[in-house]
Amino acid sequence: MPGYRPEPDRDSREWWERVARREFAVQECDACGTLRFPPRAFCAACRTEGWTWREMTPEGKVESWIVSRQPFVPGAREPYLVVMVRLKAVPGCLVYGNWRAARQPEAGERVRGVFTQVDEELTLLDWMPESFSSIHSGENPPAG
Ligand SMILES: [Zn+2]
Repeated sequence: MPGYRPEPDRDSREWWERVARREFAVQECDACGTLRFPPRAFCAACRTEGWTWREMTPEGKVESWIVSRQPFVPGAREPYLVVMVRLKAVPGCLVYGNWRAARQPEAGERVRGVFTQVDEELTLLDWMPESFSSIHSGENPPAG
């Protein structure tokens, strides 16, 4: 995963624009209702191109994680941890993001997404233990 800074493409640009507005959404196929993530131009189940964005709470369970020593966020402490989260609302979908806790994640642990504005162009969806989110409800701590 060379440099984790995402490069929005045709399919994912609108998704990133939503993240910048602090929305988390997945696509719902207009024909068969299958939810999908990451964003793509057509449904893998029925190949229909039309879809509707469904905003939802970013929550799920830790599937696995990696420790990376390659900085991608200026000022980030190293090494940093990237978790793979299985979405609660869409069990077939996995989301990657930075881990936002001082301790290591645990497999199967329930987590919640938090939005981190990295700079004027980039907002990321990071993940923290669900038990933390009641403490840090609402606004995120400043990045870096
Ligand atoms: Zn479909």
